[in-house]
Amino acid sequence: YFFLQKIPKVELHAHLNGCIRPGTLFALAEEKCVTLSSHHFQPTKKNDNDQTLIQGDDDEDALLYNVQPRSLQDCFDMFAEIPRCVNDVDSLRRITLEALHDFAAHNVVYLELRTTPKVLNAECDKRTYLETVLGVMNEFEQSYTRSMTCRLIVAIDRSLSEEEACENVDLAIAFRKSTLSADRIVGMDLGGNPTRGDFHCFRPHLERARQAGLRITLHCGEVADCDMTSNITHADETSCSTYSEVQAMLDFHPDRLGHALFVPNTFWSSQERRIPVETCPTSNVMTLELAQHVRGHLMEGLQQHPQLREWLDTQYPLAIGTDDPGVFDTNPTKELWLLCRAFDLNVSIICRLVEQSMEYAFCDEATKRRLQEDIHEEMLLLL
Ligand code: IMP
Repeated sequence: YFFLQKIPKVELHAHLNGCIRPGTLFALAEEKCVTLSSHHFQPTKKNDNDQTLIQGDDDEDALLYNVQPRSLQDCFDMFAEIPRCVNDVDSLRRITLEALHDFAAHNVVYLELRTTPKVLNAECDKRTYLETVLGVMNEFEQSYTRSMTCRLIVAIDRSLSEEEACENVDLAIAFRKSTLSADRIVGMDLGGNPTRGDFHCFRPHLERARQAGLRITLHCGEVADCDMTSNITHADETSCSTYSEVQAMLDFHPDRLGHALFVPNTFWSSQERRIPVETCPTSNVMTLELAQHVRGHLMEGLQQHPQLREWLDTQYPLAIGTDDPGVFDTNPTKELWLLCRAFDLNVSIICRLVEQSMEYAFCDEATKRRLQEDIHEEMLLLL
């Protein structure tokens, strides 16, 4: 674990509000007199974002247990609550800054954070929301001693209206045209509750974003038709209720796919150019409820992941992400550690995975090459 903590990392799949530290959420709730109605919010015994572990907790096996189970529904109940506490510019600034510190503390050298622009109050419309996040990124890069390059992906929430999606695309394009933020916003994501909304409605808006030079990542095939949690092997056409949506997403040729848990088997071997997958081990184990059957053991749950074994065996292009470190009680080191343990990977394989994932970043080529060289050199020194 401590070796993995030191290696330079690339984080391509993290949702800003899902990064909120539990301690911060409780502090904000108290400050704003908000009663959190989801019973899933409980103070953790650890301090924020496991600083104690970074500083030397030697009980590494404790990390393999799922202390706070979260089903897909629990997560979306929690996501609905967070904006009640993060409801002004100050709290947005705070969670953004803390998220950046937390990733940097795990030696993330390149971060693509994503967020859905929101109207927080009368002073903070969607534009101000994005300006605030971008402002914190600028300050962080200039002032923090450890170097972490930060980029932003503007998200569309599929449970909201097409009009909202259109506004988000307009904003992302406008920021991209502005000289001050042109490099910073690199792409668009379609996410949110996968049981709501329909890709087909959002497709023209995403196409418009793509035409404007933004890269596209889609949350794809997150849920299956029937309850497959007791016997997940591989998805086939009949097991994907959202099959036609999944197929439409694949036909769209996004630059990356998020999760891709229930995608027809034939897809993986039939592509001419393999679309990289952002895979989030703890998140997948929790939302698919894979650890339930193995007493909350995350590693054993991960071994039942519908695709990971095959992706690793076929060296499929992967980027390992945390998804929502605050909600899933995880961090970038823990995700790599879990993968190592579940699939018996040695550290050099993990280092190669991380190095390769920089190739799938949405930043400009010069930044990508510079970071690839830096990561490679640092890996060589550590190995
Ligand atoms: P935000 O966009 O910064 O508010 O981050 C939280 C939001 O990200 C949630 O409300 C969801 O819309 C989205 N999100 C977080 N995790 C997931 C996931 O696993 N699947 C789909 N959407 C997600």
